[in-house]
Amino acid sequence: MKPLPTISIERSCPICGGRTYEQFADKRIADERFNEFTYSSRKQPEFMCFRLVRCKRCDLVYAPNPPSPEFLGSAYSSASYDSQVEAQDAAKSYAHALQPYISRFSEERGAAVDVGAGNGALLPWLQKQGFKPVIGIEPSLAAIKAAHPEIAPLILCDMFSETLLNNIHPTLICSFMTLEHISDPKAFASNAFKALQPGGMVAIIVHNWRAPLNRLLGLRSPIIDVEHLQLFSGNSIDSLLRQAGFQAIQRTSLINTYPLDYWLKLSPLPTSFKQIIALLLKRVALAKLPLSIPVGNMLAIGIKP
Ligand SMILES: [Zn+2]
Repeated sequence: MKPLPTISIERSCPICGGRTYEQFADKRIADERFNEFTYSSRKQPEFMCFRLVRCKRCDLVYAPNPPSPEFLGSAYSSASYDSQVEAQDAAKSYAHALQPYISRFSEERGAAVDVGAGNGALLPWLQKQGFKPVIGIEPSLAAIKAAHPEIAPLILCDMFSETLLNNIHPTLICSFMTLEHISDPKAFASNAFKALQPGGMVAIIVHNWRAPLNRLLGLRSPIIDVEHLQLFSGNSIDSLLRQAGFQAIQRTSLINTYPLDYWLKLSPLPTSFKQIIALLLKRVALAKLPLSIPVGNMLAIGIKP
């Protein structure tokens, strides 16, 4: 892959527009380490990132010089996809966290849209909850190709925009582990607000850079990643939703359940050491043992009045 083209003029804070910030992380990019998995989900940590700063006004950590939206569009649409099993596990954790909040909707549920749907792992659950129609939006063709044949037709291969849903006004718009990756999270929030029916809900899951585990790992945390153009905290996600017009904003931290060997893959240990541990885990048949950890992700919901 060619060296990364980045925008040369510094962007202001993509949430509050603020221009006062403090340094958070220096740029660490090795062009030769870019490969077809750099823009795919749940890859091995590469410990690469853009220069990151923290907005003093809203607490968002963001890259002031990210790649252009055009570059990102083509990088994500051509990214490889190899995280089938993990996607199912992730969807289970997300569904579990979201369940208590959707009980507010009556039995007659309208459309549910999952933005950044990947292989559509969450869509069957949304169907089961009675949302109709259920629509996934996903820019990566490889991810859609990995979807179950009954689910693939529900996924639009595109980036979310105001016009994409035509005249559908969803009851629920979800976006899980996606907002860090997009050039303009503010546009996402306001488009979601416009598209929702009155009383509809937006549900967002993002990494929380202020969560204890992420603070402990510091720059070795897997959230410090070249794909992440911004990282949220409680304050900054609230501020994003509030500005878009959402009310009754609530937030909760998430427990993720993954097999032991996947936690190992994410861990900031040296690769050779991880390979040895992975072999040992396999030998004692513990590799697939499910383990639940609060890894520093949060769910935020907001209601359109
Ligand atoms: Zn800000």
